Amino acid sequence: MKPEIVEAPKGHTGSGFFATSFDEVIGIARSNSLWPLPFATSCCGIEFMATMGSHYDIARFGSERPSFSPRQADLLMVMGTIAKKMAPIVKQVYLQMAEPRWVLAMGACACSGGIFDSYSVLQGIDRIIPVDVYVPGCPPRPEQVLEGLMQVQEMARNESLRRRNSEEYAHLLQSFNIQ
Ligand code: SF4
Repeated sequence: MKPEIVEAPKGHTGSGFFATSFDEVIGIARSNSLWPLPFATSCCGIEFMATMGSHYDIARFGSERPSFSPRQADLLMVMGTIAKKMAPIVKQVYLQMAEPRWVLAMGACACSGGIFDSYSVLQGIDRIIPVDVYVPGCPPRPEQVLEGLMQVQEMARNESLRRRNSEEYAHLLQSFNIQ
Protein backbone atom coordinates (compact mmCIF):
# COMPACT_ATOMS: atom_id res chain seq x y z
CA MET A 1 0.00 0.00 0.00
CA LYS A 2 1.38 3.36 -0.98
CA PRO A 3 1.15 6.28 1.44
CA GLU A 4 -1.47 8.81 0.51
CA ILE A 5 -0.15 11.86 -1.28
CA VAL A 6 -1.05 14.84 0.82
CA GLU A 7 -2.34 17.75 -1.15
CA ALA A 8 -0.90 21.17 -0.55
CA PRO A 9 -3.00 23.15 1.91
CA LYS A 10 -5.72 25.29 0.46
CA GLY A 11 -4.77 28.89 0.41
CA HIS A 12 -3.68 31.83 -1.68
CA THR A 13 -0.49 32.03 -3.64
CA GLY A 14 1.16 35.13 -4.85
CA SER A 15 4.50 36.43 -5.76
CA GLY A 16 6.79 35.26 -2.96
CA PHE A 17 4.07 34.33 -0.49
CA PHE A 18 1.61 31.60 0.36
CA ALA A 19 -1.21 32.15 2.81
CA THR A 20 -3.32 29.44 4.36
CA SER A 21 -5.16 28.85 7.59
CA PHE A 22 -3.53 27.79 10.84
CA ASP A 23 -6.01 24.90 11.01
CA GLU A 24 -4.71 23.50 7.70
CA VAL A 25 -1.05 23.62 8.65
CA ILE A 26 -1.59 22.12 12.10
CA GLY A 27 -3.83 19.44 10.57
CA ILE A 28 -1.11 18.36 8.12
CA ALA A 29 1.56 18.33 10.83
CA ARG A 30 -0.60 16.32 13.21
CA SER A 31 -1.74 13.80 10.65
CA ASN A 32 1.82 12.97 9.62
CA SER A 33 3.18 12.53 13.11
CA LEU A 34 0.62 10.41 14.93
CA TRP A 35 2.31 8.50 17.75
CA PRO A 36 0.37 5.34 18.50
CA LEU A 37 -0.02 3.76 21.90
CA PRO A 38 -0.45 0.02 21.20
CA PHE A 39 -2.73 -1.45 23.87
CA ALA A 40 -2.32 -5.06 22.79
CA THR A 41 -3.71 -7.94 24.79
CA SER A 42 -3.76 -10.88 22.41
CA CYS A 43 -3.49 -12.14 18.83
CA CYS A 44 -4.31 -8.86 17.09
CA GLY A 45 -1.19 -7.43 18.72
CA ILE A 46 0.90 -9.85 16.68
CA GLU A 47 -0.61 -8.48 13.49
CA PHE A 48 0.26 -5.00 14.67
CA MET A 49 3.88 -6.12 15.00
CA ALA A 50 3.78 -7.15 11.35
CA THR A 51 2.39 -3.72 10.51
CA MET A 52 5.35 -2.14 12.28
CA GLY A 53 7.86 -4.29 10.40
CA SER A 54 9.81 -3.28 7.32
CA HIS A 55 7.47 -4.96 4.83
CA TYR A 56 4.44 -2.82 5.68
CA ASP A 57 6.55 -0.04 7.15
CA ILE A 58 4.25 2.12 9.23
CA ALA A 59 7.08 4.69 9.25
CA ARG A 60 5.86 5.83 5.85
CA PHE A 61 2.92 7.39 7.69
CA GLY A 62 4.99 9.07 10.39
CA SER A 63 3.81 6.59 13.03
CA GLU A 64 6.89 4.46 13.59
CA ARG A 65 7.35 5.74 17.09
CA PRO A 66 5.11 3.72 19.42
CA SER A 67 4.52 5.47 22.68
CA PHE A 68 4.08 3.50 25.87
CA SER A 69 3.45 6.65 27.80
CA PRO A 70 -0.11 7.94 27.36
CA ARG A 71 1.18 11.48 27.85
CA GLN A 72 3.16 11.26 24.63
CA ALA A 73 0.61 9.42 22.50
CA ASP A 74 -1.93 10.76 20.02
CA LEU A 75 -3.58 7.55 18.93
CA LEU A 76 -4.78 4.80 21.26
CA MET A 77 -4.82 1.53 19.32
CA VAL A 78 -6.70 -1.14 21.22
CA MET A 79 -6.05 -4.58 19.82
CA GLY A 80 -7.21 -7.79 21.36
CA THR A 81 -9.76 -9.12 23.79
CA ILE A 82 -10.53 -6.71 26.61
CA ALA A 83 -11.73 -8.46 29.73
CA LYS A 84 -14.18 -6.48 31.86
CA LYS A 85 -11.58 -6.41 34.62
CA MET A 86 -9.21 -4.66 32.23
CA ALA A 87 -11.78 -2.10 31.05
CA PRO A 88 -11.02 0.47 33.79
CA ILE A 89 -7.35 0.35 32.78
CA VAL A 90 -8.15 1.07 29.12
CA LYS A 91 -10.27 4.00 30.25
CA GLN A 92 -7.53 5.24 32.57
CA VAL A 93 -4.98 5.15 29.74
CA TYR A 94 -7.40 7.12 27.53
CA LEU A 95 -7.91 9.70 30.26
CA GLN A 96 -4.16 10.14 30.65
CA MET A 97 -3.72 11.04 26.98
CA ALA A 98 -3.64 14.72 26.16
CA GLU A 99 -5.93 16.26 23.56
CA PRO A 100 -6.10 15.91 20.67
CA ARG A 101 -6.38 12.14 20.91
CA TRP A 102 -7.88 9.53 18.66
CA VAL A 103 -8.90 5.92 19.22
CA LEU A 104 -8.70 3.02 16.81
CA ALA A 105 -10.32 -0.33 17.67
CA MET A 106 -8.41 -3.07 15.88
CA GLY A 107 -10.03 -6.44 15.33
CA ALA A 108 -13.37 -7.99 16.15
CA CYS A 109 -12.62 -8.33 19.87
CA ALA A 110 -11.87 -4.65 20.41
CA CYS A 111 -14.75 -3.60 18.12
CA SER A 112 -17.46 -5.83 19.53
CA GLY A 113 -16.11 -8.58 21.78
CA GLY A 114 -15.64 -10.82 18.73
CA ILE A 115 -16.23 -14.50 19.31
CA PHE A 116 -16.06 -14.04 23.07
CA ASP A 117 -19.70 -13.43 23.85
CA SER A 118 -19.01 -14.04 27.48
CA TYR A 119 -19.88 -12.54 30.85
CA SER A 120 -16.22 -11.66 31.41
CA VAL A 121 -15.43 -9.92 28.11
CA LEU A 122 -16.19 -6.30 27.23
CA GLN A 123 -18.42 -6.33 24.16
CA GLY A 124 -16.56 -3.54 22.40
CA ILE A 125 -14.38 -0.76 23.78
CA ASP A 126 -16.95 1.80 22.67
CA ARG A 127 -18.83 0.88 25.83
CA ILE A 128 -16.22 2.78 27.83
CA ILE A 129 -14.42 5.25 25.52
CA PRO A 130 -15.28 7.02 22.23
CA VAL A 131 -13.89 5.20 19.18
CA ASP A 132 -12.95 7.07 15.99
CA VAL A 133 -12.14 4.19 13.64
CA TYR A 134 -13.10 0.52 13.72
CA VAL A 135 -10.93 -2.00 11.87
CA PRO A 136 -12.83 -5.29 11.51
CA GLY A 137 -11.28 -8.73 11.10
CA CYS A 138 -10.03 -11.62 13.18
CA PRO A 139 -7.31 -10.56 12.94
CA PRO A 140 -7.29 -7.73 10.39
CA ARG A 141 -4.42 -7.82 7.94
CA PRO A 142 -1.73 -5.13 8.15
CA GLU A 143 -3.19 -3.48 5.03
CA GLN A 144 -6.45 -2.99 6.92
CA VAL A 145 -4.63 -1.55 9.91
CA LEU A 146 -2.86 0.91 7.63
CA GLU A 147 -6.18 1.79 6.02
CA GLY A 148 -7.55 2.51 9.49
CA LEU A 149 -4.52 4.63 10.29
CA MET A 150 -5.04 6.59 7.09
CA GLN A 151 -8.63 7.25 8.13
CA VAL A 152 -7.40 8.64 11.43
CA GLN A 153 -4.91 10.76 9.48
CA GLU A 154 -7.78 12.11 7.42
CA MET A 155 -9.70 13.02 10.56
CA ALA A 156 -6.64 14.67 12.11
CA ARG A 157 -5.99 16.62 8.91
CA ASN A 158 -9.52 17.96 8.58
CA GLU A 159 -10.39 18.48 12.19
CA SER A 160 -10.85 22.04 13.35
CA LEU A 161 -8.64 23.06 16.23
CA ARG A 162 -11.81 24.09 17.98
CA ARG A 163 -13.70 20.80 17.66
CA ARG A 164 -12.26 19.38 20.87
CA ASN A 165 -13.76 22.29 22.79
CA SER A 166 -17.10 22.05 21.05
CA GLU A 167 -20.34 21.36 22.90
CA GLU A 168 -20.88 18.30 20.74
CA TYR A 169 -17.57 16.75 21.78
CA ALA A 170 -18.08 17.62 25.45
CA HIS A 171 -21.48 15.95 25.25
CA LEU A 172 -19.88 12.83 23.74
CA LEU A 173 -17.35 12.60 26.57
CA GLN A 174 -20.07 13.18 29.11
CA SER A 175 -21.97 10.18 27.79
CA PHE A 176 -18.89 8.09 28.73
CA ASN A 177 -18.62 9.86 32.06
CA ILE A 178 -15.34 11.45 30.90
CA GLN A 179 -14.76 15.13 31.61
FE1 SF4 B 1 -7.52 -12.65 18.40
FE2 SF4 B 1 -9.42 -12.49 16.52
FE3 SF4 B 1 -9.76 -11.25 18.85
FE4 SF4 B 1 -7.93 -10.35 17.17
S1 SF4 B 1 -10.14 -10.36 16.83
S2 SF4 B 1 -7.66 -10.63 19.37
S3 SF4 B 1 -7.22 -12.25 16.22
S4 SF4 B 1 -9.61 -13.50 18.52
